[in-house]
Amino acid sequence: MVSVEVAHTKCTGCTHCRDVCPVTVFEMVPRDQFPGIEDDPAVAAKFNFRGEKSKVINGPECIVCEACLFECEGECITIVDDENNVHHSTYK
Ligand code: SF4
Ligand code: SF4
Repeated sequence: MVSVEVAHTKCTGCTHCRDVCPVTVFEMVPRDQFPGIEDDPAVAAKFNFRGEKSKVINGPECIVCEACLFECEGECITIVDDENNVHHSTYK
């Protein structure tokens, strides 16, 4: 089964993952659903953090198209596919 994870300290709330995913793996939720979370300073130096963060709601549906990995400005999505290969975000 494919698993999808978001490192929430790095998630800027840009919504790119939610917007590009063809199978609705992600949902944007208010950041206060992550009490006490601290934004990653290295990411904050490059991008604004918005009022929401991405939450994985449907990881097993992921078809590993990698669209979200290319679009994730926080470089905070990790996908492990059926063969245990690990795919990381690579924002360009
Ligand atoms: S790799 Fe594709 S299917 Fe999987 S979560 Fe990202 S955009 Fe969705
Ligand atoms: S693309 Fe990355 S940084 Fe943007 S909302 Fe999704 S997980 Fe967060």
